[in-house]
Amino acid sequence: MSQIETDLIHSGEAFNETRSVVPPIYQTATYFADSNPDDFLKAGTEARYPYFYQRHGNPVSSQTAELIAKLEGKEAALLTATGMAAISTAVLSVVRAGDHVVAQLSHYSAASILLKELLPQFGIDVSYFDQQDITSLDAVLRDNTRLIYLETPSNPNLAITDLAYVANLAKARGIVTICDNTFASPINQRPGDHGIDVVVHSATKYLGGHSDLTAGVICGTEEMVNQAWKKLLSLGGSLAPFDAWLLLRGLRTLSLRVKQINENALALAQWFEKHPLIKRVLYCGLPSHPQYALAKRQMNGYTGMLCVEVVGKDEQEQFERAQLVLNNLRIFANAASLGGVESLAVHPASMWGLHHSPEQKLKAGINDGMLRISVGIEHIDDLVGDFEQALG
Ligand SMILES: *Cc1c(COP(=O)(O)O)cnc(C)c1O
Repeated sequence: MSQIETDLIHSGEAFNETRSVVPPIYQTATYFADSNPDDFLKAGTEARYPYFYQRHGNPVSSQTAELIAKLEGKEAALLTATGMAAISTAVLSVVRAGDHVVAQLSHYSAASILLKELLPQFGIDVSYFDQQDITSLDAVLRDNTRLIYLETPSNPNLAITDLAYVANLAKARGIVTICDNTFASPINQRPGDHGIDVVVHSATKYLGGHSDLTAGVICGTEEMVNQAWKKLLSLGGSLAPFDAWLLLRGLRTLSLRVKQINENALALAQWFEKHPLIKRVLYCGLPSHPQYALAKRQMNGYTGMLCVEVVGKDEQEQFERAQLVLNNLRIFANAASLGGVESLAVHPASMWGLHHSPEQKLKAGINDGMLRISVGIEHIDDLVGDFEQALG
């Protein structure tokens, strides 16, 4: 069996039926039909067939999906136009009216809205548990619980969910588990190794890695992924040919990028811990993280995502200082998204303020003085230097 670094370069190669080393971009909506009508019908109904119509599949999407499935240790994968297309398609492939879903207190904001607003519209009840208090899960399960939806480390507060605990409980009761593995990337964590059924990603982030595309992916058994493909035909969120090609190109360096990002993030987090204007550092690779032992057990690396809280005599002062620091930064760009080669920083209290009440913010672990940082692959001295001047 080959190693991940080799898989990143060679997995899925068989889908390239041309002589070019790098696959061509199939920039076409449709493909010539076979002259035999039976074959044409087969092409139109076979799951993920890459030579029928763009919404059904694309040769480069097949190649890229196979590579990602390999990375996650799953049988199959399906690419989607965005991470949210992957999440909504995966969830809607599993649940029906009358089912009950369990999710965490904190999730990526658009996923929270799906759980809070969209699912109840279709007669699906959702309950929440505190992923930092894992046994609180037991009490919210019901006889009709069909799905447990997870995300670890979670956005933005980097809470860790005990994947093996959830998977064991779910398996014993026939409940499907889906985990959003965006923050970790398969280099740092493989939920499937801990028994999770379905892994989803916003491939916009680490997998693509260059902030030049949006994409998503659903990884699972062949059967589950084919179900999701059927739903995707109706929901419509298939990935465009050029974006599938860019994603494949980005993936080649995933391992190199993530290793450098892990290293930079740890060094920056350690530097923050000693800074007098930083009240708290949240990084799952630091022993001071409340769930460090769990992170160490289920992760191979600790990602480039970290949060810091600036000091202040009250929340108002913290809010203002966080914004000031953000404005002073020169290398870290103030922009949404994460997981690219460039370092970014955002102020969650301003971002999420639009969607969350103060009580919800507190529940989701968002504080007014908090900055969420996505560390890139720039030189660590320059990254530290940027925060040094911004805090000064
Ligand atoms: C960005 C993100 C998403 C959504 O992905 P899009 O590609 O923006 O649709 C979902 N989950 C997490 C954890 C994310 O960071």
